[in-house]
Amino acid sequence: MSTIAAISTGLAAGGIGIVRISGEDAIKIADSIFRSLGGKKIADISGYSALYGKAVDGKDVLDTAVALLFRAPKSYTGEDVVEISCHGGIYVTKRVLRAALSAGAVPAEPGEFTKRAFLNGKMDLTGAESVMNIISARGEEAEKIALGILEGGLFKEIKKISDKLLYDMALLSAWVDYPYEEIEELSNENLGGDIRESMESLEKLINNYDTGRIIMEGVDTAIVGRPNVGKSTLMNLLSGTERSIVTDIAGTTRDIVEDTVTLGGIVLHLSDTAGVRETDDAVESIGVDRAIKRLENAQLVLAVFDASRPFSEDDRRLMQLCKGKNAIGIINKTDLVKNYLTDELEENFCKLVFISAKTGEGKDELENAVVSVLGTENFDTSSAALINERQLECCKNALKDLKEAKEALALGLTMDAVTVCLDSAVESLLVLTGEKATESVVNEIFAQFCVGK
Ligand code: GDP
Repeated sequence: MSTIAAISTGLAAGGIGIVRISGEDAIKIADSIFRSLGGKKIADISGYSALYGKAVDGKDVLDTAVALLFRAPKSYTGEDVVEISCHGGIYVTKRVLRAALSAGAVPAEPGEFTKRAFLNGKMDLTGAESVMNIISARGEEAEKIALGILEGGLFKEIKKISDKLLYDMALLSAWVDYPYEEIEELSNENLGGDIRESMESLEKLINNYDTGRIIMEGVDTAIVGRPNVGKSTLMNLLSGTERSIVTDIAGTTRDIVEDTVTLGGIVLHLSDTAGVRETDDAVESIGVDRAIKRLENAQLVLAVFDASRPFSEDDRRLMQLCKGKNAIGIINKTDLVKNYLTDELEENFCKLVFISAKTGEGKDELENAVVSVLGTENFDTSSAALINERQLECCKNALKDLKEAKEALALGLTMDAVTVCLDSAVESLLVLTGEKATESVVNEIFAQFCVGK
């Protein structure tokens, strides 16, 4: 297999930039583009050690650098890996990479380091997939789930199910093939129990999928309300910056301002919309239409009302638009008044929160309401979770086959009929972990990575 090289750090100015080289010739190639201060070769040092010196391209000195060696199989890819850390300039890291390529390395394909790690048995397919999620995680909870999977949480859960089914299938076929041997008999009851347990485990994973996705990917959240109720102020409170324009003039936020914030460990993709109200202003009316569209498509709506004023027709229209949605009614400007009527709101929202976007009072209550409305409060981020459609599809297929196995057993069909269903279920689970995934599935997964991972 060829030796690959790529820049593994982000392509931006930074303290350090790392060029990673992996494969049979990694050490030879690294030695030809790196000169250590004391003259020692990378080939002469042991794994997990480093040399300080210079990255070179022929006679040209490119930068001062550190070469870090990982000897096979104790490396990320399972092959010999050398990481050359130089200063994190875009130009200099590209020069070091070019030197490695001139010395015989080939450019790594997207995700090729992780693909090699998978092919060399350093991680299963779910672990490899989670690398992508760790890289893109923006919230603490998302990172926790992805790390749990990288550490084998999902793999172990799936393996537990497939091992149990495989054991039962082995007993069934041994019993049929060697009727006179003393082989442990698998009663219908025990087999039925194992099938039921496996189904329950898969159902739990499938049912938690949507909540897991919310945690992994964040939630499209629309802040809506008539002009001047404090939407922009709320947006700024949540994002901690002066992103939206706050003024006393109604209709200032004419289009949609977007930002991504973390609330209660959940990433919210916020859009602060134009105020929802009847208007003759042509430009504002486009903004209002967009706001309504956002509201309809949002996974979470934060509908803001002004505690210091009686409800208007626009407020009531908004309440109607929010009915039946994942919407939180926010009564803002509580610093201005002591008493406010909320009867009408209670009818239309699953949760009400009282805040002062200006002083920040009530922000914790809003955080609790968001977590509760999204159903993420009881989600155990330390337990196994599915993180993409591929994994979900495999689990659904396995569950469908197990249902058929259960029915076949209940109908008293031959054990062959049951075994066929179990076999198919196990197959889907092995595809999930990558033990039986086809080359095209594997290629498709890694093609979604970026170069250097
Ligand atoms: P938007 O049109 O809904 O985006 O409203 P803005 O965020 O621009 O706020 C309109 C006005 O209300 C501004 O003068 C804000 O300073 C004020 N405001 C917003 N939230 C509060 C609050 O909680 N308390 C008080 N007293 N004023 C607020």
